Amino acid sequence: MLSDRDSVVRVRWRYLPRLTPWLISFLLAGRPGRVNAIADALLPLVSGAYNAHRELGALSGADNVLRPVGWLKVYETAASFAGTQYDRELMAARGLRFDELGPDEIHQLEPSLARRYAKGLFQPDSAFIASPHQLTQAFAVQFQRLGGNFAEERVRGLQPTNDGVRLDCELGFRNFDAVVIAAGAWSKELARQVGDRVMLDTERGYHLNIEPGEAGDLRRPVLFADRGFVLAPMLDGIRLTSGVELASVNAPPDFSPIRRLLPAAREALPGLSDRVTREWIGYRPSTPDSLPVIGQSPRNPAVYYAFGHQHLGLTLGPITGRLIAAAIAGRQPEFDLGPYRADRF
Ligand SMILES: Cc1cc2nc3c(=O)[nH]c(=O)nc-3n(C[C@H](O)[C@H](O)[C@H](O)COP(=O)(O)OP(=O)(O)OC[C@H]3O[C@@H](n4cnc5c(N)ncnc54)[C@H](O)[C@@H]3O)c2cc1C
Repeated sequence: MLSDRDSVVRVRWRYLPRLTPWLISFLLAGRPGRVNAIADALLPLVSGAYNAHRELGALSGADNVLRPVGWLKVYETAASFAGTQYDRELMAARGLRFDELGPDEIHQLEPSLARRYAKGLFQPDSAFIASPHQLTQAFAVQFQRLGGNFAEERVRGLQPTNDGVRLDCELGFRNFDAVVIAAGAWSKELARQVGDRVMLDTERGYHLNIEPGEAGDLRRPVLFADRGFVLAPMLDGIRLTSGVELASVNAPPDFSPIRRLLPAAREALPGLSDRVTREWIGYRPSTPDSLPVIGQSPRNPAVYYAFGHQHLGLTLGPITGRLIAAAIAGRQPEFDLGPYRADRF
């Protein structure tokens, strides 16, 4: 995969020396015994994610962008579908529902797709957010309505005080009783200042927003597994997202691989235009064991962590928020937060 320029995983080779410890730990986390334990540890988070979204969505009036339409993956051949056997076993062992589909069932679910897919895997209990921007805007407005203050400022550092934490912010120092570090891929350096050494890097990813053109209605996000891309019907167009690029957060973006996918996307969804209205890069904050860091710092009881949600940060945001709120308020957690400890690395 690493030598193929159109692979779903790409490495910027210059970054490899710095990435090596993370990469070794990532490979070790891929052993079957570990994968099972990791899947068990992710399960309470992912199973609670939808209800946590619904609660916040109802509170903030953003429930219109949360759509319970399921998640469809399509495969061009029976052989490539057979490659999902391990995934299916992991899901079945945990009671997660999925259906195996043939070509006609795929067509019934998504009539606007090209008729070239031999097999489908449909997860009916998944939901879809048609506008992450609208959702987070609505959460921010509701937070302020409830008395929260929203300030956007870079934090340069933090030091413990007798009764909390002092943040060194761009516009001066500020004292807090409790601080949540939720700075995505940039959290590692802030945690280091608290004395916690976490393994965190970034799996960079790209998307293109495309005008639908003459394409028929796409009803839900679809993964085209053989080519490693997703098409999703967002409020502002069809979104094409691609795989993973392992590189520094500071390296300039390289949109050429995702641009090369545009013809394949137009084959998958006939009628799709070639008019790209936005190009975007994001930085998935990833630990080598794919588990987030959630909970109180072992080093400083006034510091809480909420980062490292890799490919699932939008999904797991609300449930993580609820867990952190309970931790700060001194309430019992809904389930064991042990697997997400900051000192597990
Ligand atoms: C192509 C792509 C597709 C994805 N698809 C999905 C999906 O379908 N579902 C899903 O659940 N997730 C998805 N993700 C993953 C999701 O985007 C991330 O998991 C999520 O954004 C992580 O959220 P976060 O708030 O932890 O970090 P971020 O979104 O990276 O936010 C961190 C914030 O902290 C700020 N910050 C950093 N340092 C400082 C500092 N010193 N002071 C102040 N602020 C600071 C940054 O400016 C940033 O705003 C996708 C990611 C990509 C790249």
